[in-house]
Amino acid sequence: MDQYVLVLNCGSSSIKFAIIEAKTGTAPLHGLAENLCTASSRLVFSYQHKEHDVKLPVNTDHQQALVVIAKKLKQFKHLSQKIVAVGHRVVHGGETFTHSSLINDQVKQAIQQTSLMAPLHNPANLAGINSAQTSYPHLPHVAVFDTAFFQTMPKHAYLYALPYELYQQHNIRRYGFHGTSHYFVAHEAANALKKELSACNLITAHLGNGCSIAAVRKGKAIDTSLGFTPLEGLVMGTRCGDIDPSLPTYLIEQLGYSVSEVSELLNKKSGLLGISELSNDCRIIEQQANDGNQQAQLALDMFIYRLVKYIGAYIAVVGPLDALVFTGGIGENSAYVRENTINQLTHLGLQLDPDKNLQMRFGQSGLISHTHSKPIFAIATNEEWVIAKDTIKYAQ
Ligand code: ADP
Repeated sequence: MDQYVLVLNCGSSSIKFAIIEAKTGTAPLHGLAENLCTASSRLVFSYQHKEHDVKLPVNTDHQQALVVIAKKLKQFKHLSQKIVAVGHRVVHGGETFTHSSLINDQVKQAIQQTSLMAPLHNPANLAGINSAQTSYPHLPHVAVFDTAFFQTMPKHAYLYALPYELYQQHNIRRYGFHGTSHYFVAHEAANALKKELSACNLITAHLGNGCSIAAVRKGKAIDTSLGFTPLEGLVMGTRCGDIDPSLPTYLIEQLGYSVSEVSELLNKKSGLLGISELSNDCRIIEQQANDGNQQAQLALDMFIYRLVKYIGAYIAVVGPLDALVFTGGIGENSAYVRENTINQLTHLGLQLDPDKNLQMRFGQSGLISHTHSKPIFAIATNEEWVIAKDTIKYAQ
């Protein structure tokens, strides 16, 4: 029998939801409640490709939105009756969660305890869990963590070279994020290579608004670019990635920034947006660069240069490479970013097939490398499907 899972992703101001068939990954219904707790709260969802738009009362909060969502879903009886479990995306699992977990009071307490390290995300995830448990009291609820895939990293990769007691007493270390996406595309790449994941050395690059890269040795993550928070590493839409750690103190002490202004600057005003002074949207940047805007071109050059450096570093540590994978909105769609990245890596045995590269976009997945190259894939990520499959696995 078909087993459907309600997958929930509660952000600080939105709830993404989908009903997923766990075996095939098909999603007959998916939607978004957005602008929660504002005057323009709304709910949009698509069922069998038909769009529905529901205006929510002013200041609808997460709990109220989930009640409306549950009510709407009930209207599609034949589907909602087949929901056997609810899967929750949880951003931070700290060191407690090395895999997904059936939610009970202890699990909720542990998620609460990691909230300090993900203050924008974990409280919203937890609020979503509590509300959904009220709406679906008889179904098992499972938490799937963004950080879990990276819990296999060795200590020399996840520790910062800071006093050791900061790790022991305050859990300060690299955690990594986007784990479900990296896991999904690594798995898909192994399938495409007709190998067990446990036999594959892979580099997976998730390039969306947030960007991260992972080194996967024999199927297990051994390093990743996002760190204690999702700010380190690659250049992102609005996030700076790697900078000299002294810069925040310089901004505060010499330029008069407040702590919250520095945080805002690094998280929301940097990256592609900060350099281009135009947009965080890679499509707009590519268009503007094409039209001769030099700052847009510089933003792209920096984005690509940082990516090339990380791929080079991970080729060094991952062992004989079986494949490189691009995913995320930019990784799946931008032939320009892929081409200009790989063109700087030909001396490391990577070469694109220009035609395949140009054609690969809009949710397609496949090989984009030249026959002489190590395999390079663009793979459409599907985090919801991973959540649905794990939910079935851990719901027992
Ligand atoms: P999120 O991290 O919010 O899930 P996505 O994975 O959807 O983001 O990626 C969003 C990014 O993908 C944006 O920068 C967008 O410009 C980029 N993108 C989407 N389509 C294309 C395209 N055809 N060419 C270049 N960039 C694209």
